[in-house]
Amino acid sequence: MLDARKPDTLLDVRGLHTYFYTYEGIVKAVNSVSYGLKRGEITGLVGESGSGKSVTAQSIIQLVKAPGKIVSGEVWLDGEDLMSLSQAEMQAVRGRKISMIFQEPRAALNPLFTVGDQISRVIQLREGCSRSIAESQAVEMMRAVEIADPDRRASAYPHELSGGMCQRVMVAMALSANPLLLIADEPTTGLDVTVQAQVLDLISTRVQSAGSACLFITHDLGVVAELCERVIVMYAGRVVEQGPVSEIFTNPRHPYTQGLIASTLRVDIDKPISTIPGTVPDAVHLPSGCTFHPRCPFAEDLCQLEEPPMVEAGHDHTTRCHIVSGRIKKEMLEEAWELEPA
Ligand code: SF4
Repeated sequence: MLDARKPDTLLDVRGLHTYFYTYEGIVKAVNSVSYGLKRGEITGLVGESGSGKSVTAQSIIQLVKAPGKIVSGEVWLDGEDLMSLSQAEMQAVRGRKISMIFQEPRAALNPLFTVGDQISRVIQLREGCSRSIAESQAVEMMRAVEIADPDRRASAYPHELSGGMCQRVMVAMALSANPLLLIADEPTTGLDVTVQAQVLDLISTRVQSAGSACLFITHDLGVVAELCERVIVMYAGRVVEQGPVSEIFTNPRHPYTQGLIASTLRVDIDKPISTIPGTVPDAVHLPSGCTFHPRCPFAEDLCQLEEPPMVEAGHDHTTRCHIVSGRIKKEMLEEAWELEPA
């Protein structure tokens, strides 16, 4: 149950900048990103590949790979300033307070230990219980993520399991830690639809009952609509829109969000799946002004000259667009979107 005495916000990210220093130039992968995650809520983080979603997550847990570097910003978890912690202290936070489900489960699992061992260790670390109790809880957790014959599979090594099975082991490990914050980066990739639904249901139940928070990174807006309370939309390293799912899906105000929703949710079975025309810009040479202007059907001269600030767009709903701020007087008509076949 949620503790009503605690403030709502569990994770507070403020002005986060993470850059990659490459031979071609500086890639501003995460550029002044701010948001909060509430207890008991799942927040979807969406955007195309290269929008900065995964680097945002790596920055929170301070596992950004070279040549990347967190340049500035604050990350507060349950009132603790994570940026002020030593590497050893941050390591302890990653083990006990934050769990992450990675996109590449095989790379994240230790090839030298059985999967049952790896889950048991997480449970022992959390509960301080005996090895045999942890082992039986590990088997139960494997059963909960729909691993068939979990008693036998607990003694398998990662290379003996399929990719989808390793993915479920990762989910079991992450949930076994009972974290304050769960970061799930495309956690259902490679799972069939039925198992996907069960895993999502398990994540949702855990987050609500433990009063923890979940940052759910995905391309799949359908999953966000079903699973998440809030959504953050990223484009070219920036947050361009955020707010409650109920508000953003019915009243998207940023043209990029509108295009994403139009291309993925309004599927007409007689037509091919469509996408927003163009691609995410070259991260070293970002367009001037609003970085979305080369792809935006509503762009005007001002959009190339000035970057729009974040403005209120509704209840608990913000966005970056000169039309919403009133600098450009124009209607955003859905007919303006000429989506391309994917
Ligand atoms: Fe489109 Fe201009 Fe709004 Fe950017 S600021 S999203 S280019 S209308």
